[in-house]
Amino acid sequence: MAILDAIPEKLIVAFVTIFITYLQGTANFYILGPALGGWTSFRAQKILLPLNISLISLYVNYYLACTTDPGQTPEGWEPPFSVLNPDENAEIRVGITGPRFCNKCDAYKPPRAHHCKHCGKCVLRMDHHCPWIGNCVGFGNYSYFVRFVYSVIVSCTYGCYLLLWRLQRILDAWNNPWVIMKPGTFEVVIIAINIMLIGIVILAVGVLAIYHTYCLFKGQTTIEGWERTKTKRLISRRKIDPVEFPFDVGFYKNICSVLGDNPLLWAWPSPLKGDGLKYPIKPNTAPLLPYSWPPRDPKDLGPSFIERIEQEQTVEGSKLVRRDSEGYLVREITMEDRMRMLNEDDNGNRDPLEQEAHEQLSRENHQGMDPEDYYYDSASVSDGFTDEEEQSNDEEWVDE
Ligand SMILES: [Zn+2]
Ligand SMILES: [Zn+2]
Repeated sequence: MAILDAIPEKLIVAFVTIFITYLQGTANFYILGPALGGWTSFRAQKILLPLNISLISLYVNYYLACTTDPGQTPEGWEPPFSVLNPDENAEIRVGITGPRFCNKCDAYKPPRAHHCKHCGKCVLRMDHHCPWIGNCVGFGNYSYFVRFVYSVIVSCTYGCYLLLWRLQRILDAWNNPWVIMKPGTFEVVIIAINIMLIGIVILAVGVLAIYHTYCLFKGQTTIEGWERTKTKRLISRRKIDPVEFPFDVGFYKNICSVLGDNPLLWAWPSPLKGDGLKYPIKPNTAPLLPYSWPPRDPKDLGPSFIERIEQEQTVEGSKLVRRDSEGYLVREITMEDRMRMLNEDDNGNRDPLEQEAHEQLSRENHQGMDPEDYYYDSASVSDGFTDEEEQSNDEEWVDE
């Protein structure tokens, strides 16, 4: 959200912490505790136990989601040799372009990693950048983030139920002529405010909880959800070859990959398994696919990774070099290339327009102007990302 962008994330986290503490403090010690015979009474403890367990889970997972590093590409990380040097006979599928590369970090992107503009780095298994936790949600803290979201829903739903019960009791007491000590209006105002605030939280976080449950079942991140939609569209328009999302390993295994192998410990705050650089994949997945997901529309691409290697190997006497941070690949021109360009087709087969251009080039060359200036522009090839693609794929990963 644009407004959230302007507020320092630490302030947002402080606000969330105070907000949660206000709601649980008033519920425990002002409204429900006294109404149940005192906060320390057995009755109060029994009824408030589920609320307080989910509140502890909420605080712990919120703290861990905020403070745990989501993970970034290790220095010098590269895809395996077999992926960087694919077999010549390997099937080439339209849309699968080769290992992904981050131009901003000038490094390869591990599978499922994306560049976050807020964090200024490639985040492992990036889900989204969340201002509410002042952190990216990625490999290191995704499991805490989903447990936090579920804890919010459980705490708010049960808390709201208890507040409505208390409100009913107060209204009953007000209407009962036999009750002499009537509960105060201030308590009713606080209950009404809290129910309203909890309602807003349930609505907002509920949508998030439903979406992340869906992602959990499908074995995907939020970004991969968008990528899968885009991929389906490209396949249905026949722009790329059919390809399956490689990280969906089945309903139960998908859940275990985030919450752990033992269902009895799914609520316990534990991190994701593995190192964030390799993930279980569907059987019979092409080895290149996890490193090149998502597929790209060939229209948006320059030469593919494989084509680039071929180009590099076949263009005699020249090589492809990376030009500054934009990552464009530019052919370096040797003197031989230049001579060949000038002498090429010198037998008179040139069409008149081309002949004119040739003469112009020769003239300028004699006047001391370097024809390379022309050549650089025409020889620039994209490294697989148009600027727009780059932005849509790398920069806008923040939740709205
Ligand atoms: Zn990056
Ligand atoms: Zn981030």
